Amino acid sequence: MKITFHGAARTVTGSQHLIEVNGKKVMLDCGLFQGKRKAAFERNRHEFFQSHEIDCVVLSHAHIDHSGRIPCLVKNGFQGDIYCTAATRDLCAAMLMDSAFIQEKDVEYVNRRRKKNGQRAFEPLYTKADAAKSMAQFVGLCYNRRHQICPGVHLTLVDAGHMLGSAHVILDIVEQETGRNQRLVFSGDIGRPDIPIIRDPEPINGGCDILIMESTYGNRANPPYPESEQELEHIVNETVHRGGSLLVPAFAVGRTQQIVYALHKLHTAGRIPDLPIFVDSPLASRTTEIFRLHPEVYDNEIRDFLLSDDDNNPFGFGRLQYTQSVEQSKALNRLGVPAVIISSSGMLEGGRILHHLRNRIDDPRNTILMTSWQAPNTLGRQLAEKAQTVRIFGDEFKVRARVVSLTGFSGHADRNGLIQFARVMQKRPQQTFIVHGEQDSAESLAEGLRNELGFKQVYIPEPMQTFKT
Ligand SMILES: [Zn+2]
Repeated sequence: MKITFHGAARTVTGSQHLIEVNGKKVMLDCGLFQGKRKAAFERNRHEFFQSHEIDCVVLSHAHIDHSGRIPCLVKNGFQGDIYCTAATRDLCAAMLMDSAFIQEKDVEYVNRRRKKNGQRAFEPLYTKADAAKSMAQFVGLCYNRRHQICPGVHLTLVDAGHMLGSAHVILDIVEQETGRNQRLVFSGDIGRPDIPIIRDPEPINGGCDILIMESTYGNRANPPYPESEQELEHIVNETVHRGGSLLVPAFAVGRTQQIVYALHKLHTAGRIPDLPIFVDSPLASRTTEIFRLHPEVYDNEIRDFLLSDDDNNPFGFGRLQYTQSVEQSKALNRLGVPAVIISSSGMLEGGRILHHLRNRIDDPRNTILMTSWQAPNTLGRQLAEKAQTVRIFGDEFKVRARVVSLTGFSGHADRNGLIQFARVMQKRPQQTFIVHGEQDSAESLAEGLRNELGFKQVYIPEPMQTFKT
């Protein structure tokens, strides 16, 4: 068996790992690279494999850095099945379409400039038609059911507790030539216990022979979730007290619903004032509906909430509005009262959040609340690192609004959680590959696995590096 790391190698985005066994090629995840626009565009265009030779794809979860290149793969000739949970399949239907819309818009913008300079127009990475076509190849599965995906390879998906539908991928592989049995576990993104809405991650107690493991927060400790809810309460109240508004850049899927739910609970408990709350993201509105369609993956807390709350909807309440049209979004610029505006993109690389940011960044009464990991070279990373000035749509702005980072809403396990994920494995992996983390995080986790757990053969693959197992 061979494993080649085509993405998320010594970085976080672009998750793509190719397994070759029994003459077949299985791709684990097929994610978009995110970061500086031009570099990401080039990297996403490039493929170091033949798409038509891939036999099937297994998708750990719907986040775009794990699923967002699937339409490219299909456009380039991939005809096989794409296995994932049913909730991931439904989320991808909305998210890939949204991603295609962004690709088309981005290229339109670049091409206007290129046309002026007499340069050849670019094609979008993929279109809405490509995204729609790729949905025909998805196969939605349930958790904890075993399926044969190609000769000698059985797949089981286990709840990863990271976002709705997220999974750890277990491949039980019998190599036909040697008769050797091996279990490969690909962690996908590892969630954390006690975050609301979704269930806690399921441990892989049995262990495995080969482990491919994420390391986003391999060198960091995140505060427990309940503390973050209190912190959110404090931030909202403080901002309202100053007469300002709270801007929350958030991924439309997962983080937005978590924050809405936290605000709902704080509001119901009378811990925050009665202020208007807006979710300004058409994708967030669409995916919230998908959340409601999948109660089979909710945790007990949300189920209780659904049973006890009057309007039976944890993602909607009196003070909350979902804005759909551009006009509704623009109207938020003229709001004269303190409000909470949640909008995407989460790393501020595009989307409606940029208009709200431009409008509110130079007012010290406002707060910009960062709740997720920010890729290097993104506007979100600059703000999180307390840049004094930033460029939005080509214009320079002084950052006068308060910028606060709240890591406790993260859907990722921190260093302790990651080590714990590996610690419970009865069968210690013979080979471990650390992916999906910047260098420092990956090294810190590798060091922990070697020294605290005694793991042997722990590697941090280079991009495109191949290993024989
Ligand atoms: Zn993720």
